Amino acid sequence: MTDMLPPCPACSSVYSYQLDALLACPECGHEWQPGASEDAAPEVRDSVGNVLRDGDTVTVIKDLKVKGSSSVVKVGTKVRGIRLVDGDHDIDCKVPGIGQMGLKSQFVKKVSD
Ligand SMILES: [Zn+2]
Repeated sequence: MTDMLPPCPACSSVYSYQLDALLACPECGHEWQPGASEDAAPEVRDSVGNVLRDGDTVTVIKDLKVKGSSSVVKVGTKVRGIRLVDGDHDIDCKVPGIGQMGLKSQFVKKVSD
């Protein structure tokens, strides 16, 4: 745990302070949302270009072999509550009947739950 607030993304001042839901910088007046878009995290998109977010539901668009086992995630498998992560497999999720695993965003398609 740390109480340190992140430095101002505009001028790198370390004197940022909390202003309601925002953080503010006393030196340059910049205000920003903590944790959001400081490094402009790249958007994760599915196979057809929909932007994916944590908690989305997706379906698998092709059979995917599960690494280290003989299981296959079948095309059309619906996966709820995905979590976006960094890495080669950029979706962390729990696949019904398989368990926790990583998926690649290019092999899924977002669906409305
Ligand atoms: Zn600043």
